[in-house]
Amino acid sequence: MLDIKSRNLEEMREYIKSLNEASYRSKQIYGWLHKDLVNGYDEMTNIPKSLKEKLKEDEITNLEVVARQISKEDNTNKLLFKLKDNSLVEAVYMEYKHGNTVCISTQVGCRMGCKFCASTIGGLSRNLLPSEMLDQIYKIQKLTKKRISNIVLMGTGEPLDNFDNVCKFIEMISDEHGLNISQRNITLSTCGLVDKIYELGEKNYQITLALSLHATTDEKRKNLMPIANKFALDEVMEAMKDYYNTTKRRISFEYSLVAGVNDRNEDAKELICLLRNLNCHVNLIPVNPIKERDFKKSTKDAILNFKNKLEKNNINVTIRREMGADIDGACGQLRKHHMDIDGGCR
Ligand code: SAH
Repeated sequence: MLDIKSRNLEEMREYIKSLNEASYRSKQIYGWLHKDLVNGYDEMTNIPKSLKEKLKEDEITNLEVVARQISKEDNTNKLLFKLKDNSLVEAVYMEYKHGNTVCISTQVGCRMGCKFCASTIGGLSRNLLPSEMLDQIYKIQKLTKKRISNIVLMGTGEPLDNFDNVCKFIEMISDEHGLNISQRNITLSTCGLVDKIYELGEKNYQITLALSLHATTDEKRKNLMPIANKFALDEVMEAMKDYYNTTKRRISFEYSLVAGVNDRNEDAKELICLLRNLNCHVNLIPVNPIKERDFKKSTKDAILNFKNKLEKNNINVTIRREMGADIDGACGQLRKHHMDIDGGCR
């Protein structure tokens, strides 16, 4: 059965109807869960006791904070949450000029196998429910007491590999009866599942789509990202163009710079050719080395040189600021660290 926090307003209406209760209760309960962010039915002060008793059959999904690291430098918060089945997921809170941003996980683990990524090392355990994605944001908003205005789906997991739940999450987090976060402030990052990119385009959301590109030829990409064996770069680029043509949203490319692997002049040149005439933005990410792999961060000079080359060719480019450098290392490492000491609990 769908848990109550994963029900959109329409499904809530059906559910309330099935309990033989007045329809207006659905909006009240939805508001308590998604706007007031209550943890339990007892906090729903305008709901009669008899209805609360019926609702209690379905326990509200609440994530439990098991670790919280706060950066003294920039107030970045890294959080580790425990789910009902003891799975662990990570989320990060960051304060940018353009707004308070939360990076959420979409799966427990990941099966995409990207070589430089800590989140994929134990493989995929399961998909997250809409409620489990929403509650990462709800708990962070309550803990920090800051209004969250931006969301990036860039934590553990491949969002398009959990397509239906992620779509529902996008619709619910941007619903005016909930936190009402503008779709324009949501970025979904994918390693490039071509069929799903087309499907996402058909939804015509106003979100930003970011492609983890990381290399400019199929050969180089295959060395970093196994998904490149399934989908050729040509096909992925066509799908990205289609997303732009359908939604008119500027597309984005992530490029993690690895010393000596994809940060050379010829790589920059190839990237410029690949992106010619596209309305896009490039986000350069200095690779965050993980202990399981031997990838080295590019030098400062190599990073700046790469950026300048793109800029000279009129490509919009930013270097991702390193947030919370004084707390845990790369994405996925807080969770990995806890799993290692807990004997691999997930
Ligand atoms: N599955 C999605 C979201 C994953 S993480 C995707 O592949 O896009 C968000 C970004 O961080 C991706 O671009 C991913 O490739 C990148 N990334 C993962 N581990 C990294 C690391 N150790 N250093 C730099 N970038 C990394």
